[in-house]
Amino acid sequence: MTLPAYAQVVFNLPLPDAFTYRIPPALQDRVQVGMRVLAPFGPRKITGYVVALTDTCDASLKLKDIEDAPDTQPVTSEELLALTRWLADRYHAGWGEAIRAALPAGLDDEEHELFSLSPKGEIALRDKNVSAAGTAVLQLIQKRKQLSRKQIRHALKKTYKSHTLATLKLEGLLLTETRLRKSSVPYKTETVASLTSNVVNHAQAETLLARSPKQKELYALLGNGELTVTELSKQFPKHAGPLRELRKKGLAETRRVEVPRYGGEEIDLSTEGLDGPLQFTPDQEQVYGVLKDALETQVAHTFLLQGVTGSGKTEIYIRCIQQALDAGRTAIMMVPEISLTPQTVFLFRRRFGENVAILHSGLSAVERYLEWEKIRQGEVGIAIGARSAVFAPLNNLGIIIIDEEHDGSYKQDATPRYHARETAIARARQAGAVVLLGSATPSLESRHKAARGEYHHLTLPKRIGTRLMPTVHLMDMRKERDERKNYSIFSLELKKAILERMDLGEQVFLFLNRRGTANYVVCRKCGFVFECPHCSVSLTFHSRTKILLCHYCNLTRVMPDHCVECGGEVIRFSGFGTQKLEEETRSLFPAARTARLDRDTTRTRSAFEAMYRDMREGRIDILIGTQMITKGHDFPGVTLVGVVYADLSLHIPDFRSCERTFQLLTQVAGRAGRGTVPGRVVIQAHNPDHYVYDYVASHDYDGFYEKELALRQRLHYPPYSRLASLLIEHPSEKDGEAYIDRLQTEFAPLVRGAEGVELLGPARAALYRLHDLFRWHFIFRARNAEVLQSVLHKVKRLDAVAKPPGTQCKVTLDVDPVNML
Ligand code: ADP
Ligand code: ZN
Repeated sequence: MTLPAYAQVVFNLPLPDAFTYRIPPALQDRVQVGMRVLAPFGPRKITGYVVALTDTCDASLKLKDIEDAPDTQPVTSEELLALTRWLADRYHAGWGEAIRAALPAGLDDEEHELFSLSPKGEIALRDKNVSAAGTAVLQLIQKRKQLSRKQIRHALKKTYKSHTLATLKLEGLLLTETRLRKSSVPYKTETVASLTSNVVNHAQAETLLARSPKQKELYALLGNGELTVTELSKQFPKHAGPLRELRKKGLAETRRVEVPRYGGEEIDLSTEGLDGPLQFTPDQEQVYGVLKDALETQVAHTFLLQGVTGSGKTEIYIRCIQQALDAGRTAIMMVPEISLTPQTVFLFRRRFGENVAILHSGLSAVERYLEWEKIRQGEVGIAIGARSAVFAPLNNLGIIIIDEEHDGSYKQDATPRYHARETAIARARQAGAVVLLGSATPSLESRHKAARGEYHHLTLPKRIGTRLMPTVHLMDMRKERDERKNYSIFSLELKKAILERMDLGEQVFLFLNRRGTANYVVCRKCGFVFECPHCSVSLTFHSRTKILLCHYCNLTRVMPDHCVECGGEVIRFSGFGTQKLEEETRSLFPAARTARLDRDTTRTRSAFEAMYRDMREGRIDILIGTQMITKGHDFPGVTLVGVVYADLSLHIPDFRSCERTFQLLTQVAGRAGRGTVPGRVVIQAHNPDHYVYDYVASHDYDGFYEKELALRQRLHYPPYSRLASLLIEHPSEKDGEAYIDRLQTEFAPLVRGAEGVELLGPARAALYRLHDLFRWHFIFRARNAEVLQSVLHKVKRLDAVAKPPGTQCKVTLDVDPVNML
């Protein structure tokens, strides 16, 4: 058998094609599909991924050699290679970019290998049976103990040859150690105290410690075994002095050790044991029965589980995972980034023990790498994580669960701009696995697919037990101001309700959506908000030019003096912060213990944990927060939820803003009354006539769905069309405008020539200036995915798109965009 002599390699670059390299003889028996290689690319040497091996190649090609292959086993499986290939096509990214996204951080670093001499190398050097070039390398490394490739290259200058190093490595004369980049947070270290190993006999120790009982006590304690300083503080407070003395006398020593960290609270499962399953309710039983049957077929199926908040979806997830494990298969559990809290992890650990790996952005790069490695080595059967968990290197996958499937965080906001839901479905199709999408408020797209039979639709219409849905009160803040002369942020009802809760010793959530970053214009009197007549998105106010603009179709309007509906005074509105809300809350309820939870107050995990505990244990009366409080946290003591400025999210200039608002308010309302006391929700709106509020108040998802779907159909928005946005960013406004004019001219014939495609824009993006760049976008709208793909392929091939003017000009294609600001 001849060994394959050529490798197809892709790089973490926006390039569609693989490149062919020659595999040098020394590496021919080592390079495998799915491995990383270091290869010359232009003037640099960079890490790429082998996607295929061949023993022949086009003789006319002038090929370069692969420089090195650092892996002993592939970093990505055939299955994930196929998935990333699919992803690259679907989202118009490079294959290498997709592979990179599927791997943990640190694996793309080209300089993370450290070389040292092996014993065999020492001997070879001494016996002088190495080539001259090899000797130079070995001598250098011997002198400096351990060196990176970069350091070796630097020291040897022109005489450095990469294959010399590779050969030495292969012959076992060099040892290599793979290190993650320095910048990635290393292990956490702890100090450990122990008795010294130089044998001191008892009598000696007794004499040394005769006059110091504290030291004697500590000496005895350490005699039972070494202890970390944390442990020591618990068992022996004020140990610092005695420990120092013991060290001076040579009886004890301390050293620093590395301790791996895990996401989530440490649980001692050996003593507590695992939790068993709950007795299903009849509704749960029925839903589970269907899923169990599907799991047994081992044929890919997608399910949408629509279950109100508190209907017991989690228990169903757990039992499905168990079912998959029992059949010898594995499972991925995905949750939105912000609900991947230690509480979630705790819950799964209590059921599955050590069989769980966690992929979490709160972990350091090293920790994430270790968790990934556990999965890859088959040590665990379950991976829990946010979006990127869809790439967990599990074999024999049985089920992928996506909780809160409507959540926007499942779409990646950077290249490759994949949606984890679509990616999960693609992966399950290959693996013959089940995809279970769960939500109380499914995305319109998913619900629509369920209605058309593309997904199987399952429902859990009731909360577990006798717990009622919360009652929702809608407050008209215009009346509050005009009729009651109440200019406060709080309506009289909300104020009264808060005071009542304080008397009862119950807790309150105050929720403010802060995501609205664009300015919009609203009538003070009737609450009318200026919208684009064609696109049905709020017009954005641009303060520099004083115009109103539709950032979908570029319609412009002069900022009016008066409302077109009622003639009232027009004001612009640009949001309101949680900090201000906190101040007002404190001054209005001075006796209440108020806390604020958002990204500013909880930068660290421990700050977040502390607040969570305070809340659980009743040390906080009023908690103010943003989206962060809406998911993954169960506070049974909360019986009142107040939403201030509920309209804010309605006016984000995005066609999904109503859907998002509905989902958000329903989620927030779901936080009220999960304990034994029924919850109450007060929503304060300046525009209370909006249809979204009726459906929120009556907990009517299906009603909302029908209404919103009809609107989408009329305006040709998804799910009745597919969109892609092309974002252009340029440091100069003038040059940027010239560029987008040129693009428009080139796009026009492409769009005219294709049936079922329209081009919206170019228009200024809602966030027109960001990081010193001016931003515009085009929106391609197509009848279906195929039509969209074919036009995008043509767009990408245009020179104007492929080669933007200047290195600072960025062109970004986003298929199925979720965030269009
Ligand atoms: P969801 O995820 O649908 O919002 P959860 O899964 O959080 O709902 O369930 C709500 C509560 O009901 C949880 O406290 C859970 O432990 C409890 N629960 C779920 N199923 C059962 C059951 N069959 N019997 C008793 N309690 C249950
Ligand atoms: Zn418009």
